[in-house]
Amino acid sequence: MQITDKITTIKGIGPKKASALERLKIRTLGDLLFYYPREYQDRRQIQTIKSLKDGDTASIRARIVLLVPGGFRGKRTLQVLVTDDTGELSVVFFKADYLIKQLEKNQEYELYGKVTERAGRLQMVHPEIERKSGLTEQGKILPLYPLTEGISQKDLRKWIKESFSLVKELPELLPEAMRLRNRLCSLSYAIENIHFPEDPQKMREAKFRLVFDEFLELQLGLLSMKERVFGAAEGISFSKTKKMCEFTQTLPFSLTGAQARVLAEVETDMESKRIMNRLIQGDVGSGKTALAAAAAYKAIKSGFQAVMMAPTEILAGQHYETLTSLFSPLGVKVGCLTGSLAAKEKKALLLDIQEKRIDFLVGTHALIQPQVTFKKLGLVITDEQHRFGVRQRSLLQQKGNNPDVLVMTATPIPRTLAVILYADLDISVVDELPPGRKPVITKAVTSSKREDAYTFVREEIAKGRQAYVVAPLIEESTEIEAKSAKQLFEELSGHFPGVRVCLLHGTMKQTEKDHVMELFAKGQADILVSTVVIEVGINVPNASIMVIENAERFGLASLHQLRGRVGRGAEQSYCFLVTEGKTEQSKERIKILCETNDGFLIAEKDLLLRGPGEFFGFRQHGLPELKLADPSKHLSILEIARKEAFFVLETDPDLENEENAELKNRMQMLFEDVEGLSI
Ligand code: ADP
Ligand code: MG
Repeated sequence: MQITDKITTIKGIGPKKASALERLKIRTLGDLLFYYPREYQDRRQIQTIKSLKDGDTASIRARIVLLVPGGFRGKRTLQVLVTDDTGELSVVFFKADYLIKQLEKNQEYELYGKVTERAGRLQMVHPEIERKSGLTEQGKILPLYPLTEGISQKDLRKWIKESFSLVKELPELLPEAMRLRNRLCSLSYAIENIHFPEDPQKMREAKFRLVFDEFLELQLGLLSMKERVFGAAEGISFSKTKKMCEFTQTLPFSLTGAQARVLAEVETDMESKRIMNRLIQGDVGSGKTALAAAAAYKAIKSGFQAVMMAPTEILAGQHYETLTSLFSPLGVKVGCLTGSLAAKEKKALLLDIQEKRIDFLVGTHALIQPQVTFKKLGLVITDEQHRFGVRQRSLLQQKGNNPDVLVMTATPIPRTLAVILYADLDISVVDELPPGRKPVITKAVTSSKREDAYTFVREEIAKGRQAYVVAPLIEESTEIEAKSAKQLFEELSGHFPGVRVCLLHGTMKQTEKDHVMELFAKGQADILVSTVVIEVGINVPNASIMVIENAERFGLASLHQLRGRVGRGAEQSYCFLVTEGKTEQSKERIKILCETNDGFLIAEKDLLLRGPGEFFGFRQHGLPELKLADPSKHLSILEIARKEAFFVLETDPDLENEENAELKNRMQMLFEDVEGLSI
């Protein structure tokens, strides 16, 4: 047997089990060994029946005194009475055909399950039950794995045990010295004890080691990427005499303190020979667009082109308009490239870009296409970075010769984590909103109070305000019980005579979308009914009300982004979250939003509620998945791993030393895709 052998080499795994295992991404014996338990059952303590209480989960050892088969809705059931020397307990099994054949009176068994009280008597319903023998799983700490249909805990435990003969052959990933320095157990010890620990201490040692490995791999990957792209190569030094303030003086407002500070950081980066690779984090409405424009100004006045990528056509279109009006008085040519551009216009635009008749190009993913070539690209900006992956960012970068890079995001992550996770980026934070902004007042509304909310909307509209109404779906669906944008559009159009309602959703033609956005932006429509397409970036300061239907269907970050569409003008703004909030988690989410407008605080809570995997969207970013490691829980391990990663790259940047050979293999496997693209 070998680590790379298919799982079907294990006796008992045929095509059917193999395809179920495929759903868990287990294909080889190695995958099986690295498939970690989600939690454990501690069965070391055998309890006496007398000591059991309602609600306990317990192991007992007892003899069967009575077996009573029965029937329930066509299923065979089995009532069993067991005893140890201290008392009797009744045990119930449903769907018990197989057990009826197996269990025998007067034999001793080991049972594990939850104790419940029924009619004053304690019982166990469907416990795990096994004949007492040396081979039983009692008296141990047992792993509980995430399962899929057709695969049981027992299956996984058995197969993993069988693959254990390979553990000794697992190549040790870490150099000996690194293990000693950090008192890390060996990889084989860790694998054995993450699955079947003899005691909790061994399990913790195993987990520490495996969490360390995951963080080390991630840090090494990110840092070496940065090194490769930004370290060795020389970047552009933009002009020290073309200052950003020439541009910011032309803005209709003066910069906030935070904006000014961040711009100074960006300006220093741009003037230096190092390649700038900076992330600007700032809550919705903190004024990031003006910063991007100022950076572009400096690049353009220094003789280069700049490009800015946005995640949606609507946002790209809006940026195009804003930037055109800011730049045309300054003699800077702005262009816009999106997927829906007609072939003829596209051809002309591509030529203009190539010959540098366009200085500043805005667009969507369409910018990444190979036909897009620049004459002299000096600055690459991505807006709403959380919507893009590492991959897309680096593809755009490759269109220039070591251009400077600025990425902007309104999905803040706690700063300590950001520093570590975005190891390849420097970070600036715009932690101040432009003056005069009033926090948006947010209220949760149950459907019985929905009418009141809409009455309020109508009153505000009568005062000249505008409103967004967001639905989770485009069309009505028979499967999902949620409001659709089309349905809401019809409802509201009938409901509010004299109020101008318009509709926007992702599958509309681009020209229709543009038309609708223009109507709304110019104040020629009062209510914009929409799907989440308006989530990012849309800026209509006169819109002061946001109604979100079926708010429970959106994540915290999305809700915060949506809410960020209002509160952009001088008027008091409101956000209504229409929801029944059925689960605890969704109630908690809604509550957080009602209590705070602070994006950083919301991000922290979101991280706690959702867990890191989903929060960071690792896969989406092309990064290896974290299985055991949780940056919010294991911050101290993360810091150790980060130090070690720096140490490795300082002493052996290309991982050429013998002691780093295994690490090198592993990194190549994990970062194949990501690295290939960023070099
Ligand atoms: P975001 O950071 O969400 O991208 P925007 O760049 O869209 O925010 O800015 C939101 C609004 O605030 C825009 O209307 C912009 O013109 C305005 N704005 C930006 N900076 C300032 C400022 N310093 N003073 C007043 N208004 C500002
Ligand atoms: Mg923005």
